[in-house]
Amino acid sequence: MRSVQDYASVAGQDVVEHLRQLAALLQGVRIVHVNSTRLGGGVAEILRELVPLKNDLGIDARWEVVKGEEAFYQCTKNFHNGLQGTPVPMSEHLLRTYEETNASNAEELRSVLEEADIVFIHDPQPLLLLQSMPNRKGKWIWRCHIDLSRPYRPVWKYLRKFTLDYEASIFSLADFSQSLPHTQFLVPPSIDPLNEKNMDLSSERVEELCAPFKLDAQRPVMLQVSRFDRFKDPCGVLRAYRLVKAFAPGVQLVLAGGAATDDPEGEAVLEEVRFEADADPDVHILLLPPDADLTINALQRRADIVLQKSVKEGFGLTVTEAMWKGKPVIGGDTGGIRLQVVNHHTGFLVSSPEGAALRTRYLLQHPDKVQEMGHKAKEFVRENFLITRHLREYLSLMVALIYGDEERIKVEMHVNR
Ligand code: UDP
Repeated sequence: MRSVQDYASVAGQDVVEHLRQLAALLQGVRIVHVNSTRLGGGVAEILRELVPLKNDLGIDARWEVVKGEEAFYQCTKNFHNGLQGTPVPMSEHLLRTYEETNASNAEELRSVLEEADIVFIHDPQPLLLLQSMPNRKGKWIWRCHIDLSRPYRPVWKYLRKFTLDYEASIFSLADFSQSLPHTQFLVPPSIDPLNEKNMDLSSERVEELCAPFKLDAQRPVMLQVSRFDRFKDPCGVLRAYRLVKAFAPGVQLVLAGGAATDDPEGEAVLEEVRFEADADPDVHILLLPPDADLTINALQRRADIVLQKSVKEGFGLTVTEAMWKGKPVIGGDTGGIRLQVVNHHTGFLVSSPEGAALRTRYLLQHPDKVQEMGHKAKEFVRENFLITRHLREYLSLMVALIYGDEERIKVEMHVNR
């Protein structure tokens, strides 16, 4: 188990001291995070690191997960797609399932949630829990990780009304904020530089971890790590790879993905990708288990070119993960990727397979640029996207929520005198 002190080696001792000062104001505060999966996807990735660190700082933080039947996940996946702009069906039956699943989960979690001082509800899946908690004591915050810049209106219209009673909401980017009657905070996500996915690995260990995939050590590798989700555009990556293959015939492609327990569409997308790959022996489609962190770490280090060619992206932790390993990333010009990829500096922003292929060719031909941009990418992550910055923003936000009213009262008393 890591402690906050361990992060001094990466982020600096002053950063750790600052976290302790903020946490001193929050001793014994009870916090609950609620999402819909412990495995797979960026939210679970973040919570499994943030929650223990809050505990280490003396805050009573817990992580709860709502559970549902297949129809519930089908509905919330439709919401996810809808909020990111895809027109989706909204059948009465699925909406009732969504509402009933939230109500039954509320019964399971009632005692924990009613007593909590602050509750963070992640994404739309558990959004309706608040409706079933009229006796709640704490402040409830909706933390939306989705690219909400251009939602499909009927979905947002339905969900928005359930966000209105929240004390505040948190988005990853200003572009995602909406017209809401409460405070909106902007907090981009982060990676943990010390966990198995991001820690340093020797080149021998990278080789050993990549050995099962039988990649040719002499030939370049293009990589995308992502759930099999259409917004991640795996088929677009395959098209880019084919274009690259025309001038760099030796190039190999790895598409590494796994399932998230709250994503029912993964299998269908995987089938599309396999069809598109057409049994090309240089295309490696890897279905990784949820505990493959070291493998992902090694693949990101082994890769010559890292892509994240999403067409919509709430943030894209995989981008930060690769940048932390000194790789410039070729990323889709969308959502949270724009926050990380500073075009021509920490990577390239692209809008088509042709663009991705062009930038891949450039990087394959300019190893000196790869090194220069990769160095900038790593330092950019150190400044902006490490878990210590994320934790500091959460702590500041909690201090503001808990002490905000008190401060205001003091100011008014002073003015009256
Ligand atoms: N990931 C993983 N195994 C996979 C695919 C992805 O562990 O097979 C991880 C990936 O390394 C990253 C997270 O899942 O930490 C995905 O987060 P991101 O923000 O990139 O996308 P999301 O899945 O949340 O849309």
